[in-house]
Amino acid sequence: MTHSQRPYSFIRGLQGISLSLALVSSSIFSAAYCAELSLTSSSTKQGQPVEVTYTTETAEENPTFTFAHETYKLFPASSASKDGAGDGRHIYKAILSPSLELDPGTYTLKNESGSVKLKVLDGKFYTQYLSLPPSKNNFKMSPGEEETVAAAKATLSADRLWSGNFVRPSKARVSSAFGNRRVVNGKLLKDYFHSGLDFAGYQGSPVVACAPGKVVMAKTGYRLHGNCIAVDHGQGVVSFYIHLKKLNVVQGQEVKAGELIGQIGQTGRANGPHLHFSIYVNKAASNPNYWFANAIK
Ligand SMILES: [Zn+2]
Repeated sequence: MTHSQRPYSFIRGLQGISLSLALVSSSIFSAAYCAELSLTSSSTKQGQPVEVTYTTETAEENPTFTFAHETYKLFPASSASKDGAGDGRHIYKAILSPSLELDPGTYTLKNESGSVKLKVLDGKFYTQYLSLPPSKNNFKMSPGEEETVAAAKATLSADRLWSGNFVRPSKARVSSAFGNRRVVNGKLLKDYFHSGLDFAGYQGSPVVACAPGKVVMAKTGYRLHGNCIAVDHGQGVVSFYIHLKKLNVVQGQEVKAGELIGQIGQTGRANGPHLHFSIYVNKAASNPNYWFANAIK
């Protein structure tokens, strides 16, 4: 057992007491507590994913943890661990990507067996200036558009379908970074962060799936999103491909990483041909650059 599962108050209680006493106390404490929540990193940035691991001696039906007033589901780490890891331990995992709207600071992940602290740092995003024709300078959506997109973002299936880094969905250059605030036609958009990357490809250039998954949304003609696709990769990770000219897949279809799924276009609220690409993790926009270079696997 590591020391990380000790409640914060316990650690604070030890301050000022001699080291030898602390070590004795620690070993007594460890004998009584065997379940543990841990993180791949004790600090992260807004939009940067971390992996949460829950290790316990008893199998649990639906383990969860809470973070910033939300409850998150944990999934068995592998089929072997469903029946125990061989040493009597059961391991569950989840991916957490702090929202861009979450204030920087230190937060506690918690469940009934333990807690761990996560420091969330400012993502240090930029402001981007752009102009849109008056007819497109609004966020109006088609009937059912908001609900359909929200349902696709909320997809939560049990199996992790990817095993490596994600591939870039387009070979075009990135014209707008993740997390940008935007000034449109001279006005700052309130409570707005760019939720993904824009790839400035020409009309009709190929768009490929970033990782293996299942198409959970394939819609045409939406006023804001245009022609758009969402692919579920499992465990709350869903990728979005927006403003497409053409879709090459249908809802329910399974796709491989790098498989052609559509073409770059200018449909919906777009000031020129480009692909808007987002990765959502448990409904929070996650920075695709981490998934291309150093994905949680
Ligand atoms: Zn965009």
